[in-house]
Amino acid sequence: MDKAKNSLKDEMKSVALQRIRKLFELAEANFDERPELSKRYVWIARKIAMRHNVRFDFEIRKKFCKKCGAFLSVGKNAKVRVGGGIAKLSCIECGFVRKICLKRKQKVKEARKNPRDQDSKKKKWCKRR
Ligand SMILES: [Zn+2]
Repeated sequence: MDKAKNSLKDEMKSVALQRIRKLFELAEANFDERPELSKRYVWIARKIAMRHNVRFDFEIRKKFCKKCGAFLSVGKNAKVRVGGGIAKLSCIECGFVRKICLKRKQKVKEARKNPRDQDSKKKKWCKRR
């Protein structure tokens, strides 16, 4: 019984992920002509993810603003600055800046092992992958 329940849940999650990916494709396609519509698609995708307790892929996560929910297109309403192993993706609409760690996880782990390393404190927020 439990197994059947779990498999149904997994199936629902995979369908939710498919719909989220489709919504982001639509948001990307409609961004030039109707940016408000793409914002709405992002909102719907986030609602689906919340309902089914699904995490966004890293590729999807960097495509929208966490604060205002806008679909981000670099060069149009988002800008990227890279330096010190960190990429800063900022939303021009609201000014929110998302930091993305560009270094691999292994290096971060090594830095955490050595508490005397000064960089280890700076990398605390980096939990990618
Ligand atoms: Zn924003």
